[in-house]
Amino acid sequence: MIYIKSEEEINLLRESSLLVGKTLAEVAKLISPGVKTITLDKVAEEFIRDHGAVPGFKGYNGFPFSLCISVNENVVHGFPSEKVLKEGDIVSVDCGVLKNGFYGDSAYTFAVGEIKDEVRNLMDRTKESLYIGIEMATDGNRVGDIGYAIQNHVEQFGYAVVRDLVGHGLGKNLHEKPEVPNYGKRGSGPKLKEGMVLAIEPMINLGTRKVIQEKDGWTIRTADRLPSAHYEHDVVIRKGRAEILSTFEFIEEVLNNNK
Ligand code: MG
Ligand code: MG
Repeated sequence: MIYIKSEEEINLLRESSLLVGKTLAEVAKLISPGVKTITLDKVAEEFIRDHGAVPGFKGYNGFPFSLCISVNENVVHGFPSEKVLKEGDIVSVDCGVLKNGFYGDSAYTFAVGEIKDEVRNLMDRTKESLYIGIEMATDGNRVGDIGYAIQNHVEQFGYAVVRDLVGHGLGKNLHEKPEVPNYGKRGSGPKLKEGMVLAIEPMINLGTRKVIQEKDGWTIRTADRLPSAHYEHDVVIRKGRAEILSTFEFIEEVLNNNK
């Protein structure tokens, strides 16, 4: 079943989602050539705990870290490690928190120093597709309307939508019903109702849509090793226009100050 959240529950989800946005901004401050990705994980975990929450991913199905850090051809679920970021990399940082019994879950893809134009375009258009998907996340529409809008936007540029992984409902559980694919047919899938909370998260590849799982049992990478971008927002279904609970505002403030 798909839970409809009360306004009280939505307030708590907003608080958790906001904390994720602030945590990602702390990570944004550190992203530069030479930084170890494990350092980002430590800073995020400390920030989350300092704000009365616990990392939402750590221990989830046995995931060992607070952040999923996925560099270049890694799509999602990458492990933070001693590996350093280098000029020209892109890095998807996915963060979850659990506070007051509710999860927040949001992701952003960062450029490390100067990156190639074709990769910058992939990032920009993936982020655009997230907002285009969110525009369809309104009361009375269907889940397939979101996926259709995302797919339709990115495929015009020759990109491919990852199909093996999808967005999801969000609440007292990190992953609730419904599944929210980033591809689909208009008018298909479960009907959206005011008070449903969804994590919408396009994962878009420069090359093939095919992905494989690495031997660590978690990391998902593109089969052709071309880069992938990933952005994620938590939204409440409303009449007319969805309400976005998570935010990139703090992240983008940091990125603009670093320019
Ligand atoms: Mg996420
Ligand atoms: Mg998610």
